Amino acid sequence: MATYSHSKIECFRNCPRQYYYRYVAKLELEEAPGQIALFFGSRCHDALEWLYGQVKLGVIPTKKQLLKEFARIWDDQWEDDIEIRERGMTPTRYRSLGDKIVGEYYDAHHPFDDSTTIELEQMVRFDLNAKKNIRMVGYIDRLAKDAKGVWHIHDYKTNKRLPTQADMDQNPQLAYYEIGIRQMWPKIKEVQLHWHFLRFGETITSTRTKQQLRDLRNDALSTISDIAVCGKDEDTFETNETGLCSYCDYQESCPITKHEFRVNGLPINKYKNEPGVKLVNAWTELKEQRSELEAQVAELDEEIANIQDALIDYAEKEDAEIVCGDEHEATIRYIEKIKFPTKSKNLEEHTKMERQLQETPFWDMVSGLDRHALTTLWKHPESLDPKLRRILKKFALVEQETKVGIRGKRS
Ligand code: SF4
Repeated sequence: MATYSHSKIECFRNCPRQYYYRYVAKLELEEAPGQIALFFGSRCHDALEWLYGQVKLGVIPTKKQLLKEFARIWDDQWEDDIEIRERGMTPTRYRSLGDKIVGEYYDAHHPFDDSTTIELEQMVRFDLNAKKNIRMVGYIDRLAKDAKGVWHIHDYKTNKRLPTQADMDQNPQLAYYEIGIRQMWPKIKEVQLHWHFLRFGETITSTRTKQQLRDLRNDALSTISDIAVCGKDEDTFETNETGLCSYCDYQESCPITKHEFRVNGLPINKYKNEPGVKLVNAWTELKEQRSELEAQVAELDEEIANIQDALIDYAEKEDAEIVCGDEHEATIRYIEKIKFPTKSKNLEEHTKMERQLQETPFWDMVSGLDRHALTTLWKHPESLDPKLRRILKKFALVEQETKVGIRGKRS
């Protein structure tokens, strides 16, 4: 029987290739030093688990006892190679933060009588499909039931960011657990999902309709079927390059990160001579040179345009059409351009011209107002019927264009 968890399904959704490395190839990872954020979160969980364990036994510890227990758990589990990535934080600061947030949780929930704890770290295992060959597993931090018969699924979070209500209304993890407990205890009527964001002293509560739970189950089955389609071949599991790649455990194997992972471990002289690094650096250098040249070309084009404008002014002033230099000469030509109204640029005038020409016997000559035909007729006014000439003159727009060129001197 295939068994999945919330994290397994989310792993595939975030990056199918990471799923392959972790769950299909089961690549072994070098033992990495623990990270303080994980250690911190786990110890806060442990302290609250101890607290509710005592409450379940009918004993309500004092806040002092809870903090003493937190300190004991912290010291017992602490290892000196635990990594701290957060700037400005030290183990002492983390521990003080732990004291603060566990203490604040105590104050906010004392005397812990809003519900009865059914189980701590409750394992949920349930079937996702009717055939009962796909199973989900997970663990609930605290499962409780209140006096009105409402069941409560509690989860403790030590995230640095407080998510919104909308985020948690979409979050699938505790909703999977709801499917699980409803299967384990079919008489359950109402369930509430609670995330306790300990750093903020905030609890976000959400509920799910039966339809939402059905949709969640179907989405999970659809992802599981995508996983099955990938089979066992690495290449069928797509990579998904995101900012999370720099935290991925499989950077050494993944084609997105393996080159950087390998060359970053090289001594500087070997790094500089590594063929891939050399090729990318050479390309980057050429791209930079090309950009600089393109900027220079743009500047030169602007200078040429300024000179052309100055030459036009000069030629007009001198009444000249050719201005000479040492070996070259500039030509300044004045060209008359005829434009007739078009449907796209001046529909009103175009329609008027069309009507007037259609009323003459020359409609065929203008070939349905073909631009080329009109211009040709315009250029030979002497051969035109006066009526046609008058109509064309009425609608023709004459524009002057000045063209500047440069050529070698004739001799
Ligand atoms: S490095 Fe990025 S793309 Fe590669 S497996 Fe990890 S998360 Fe996926």
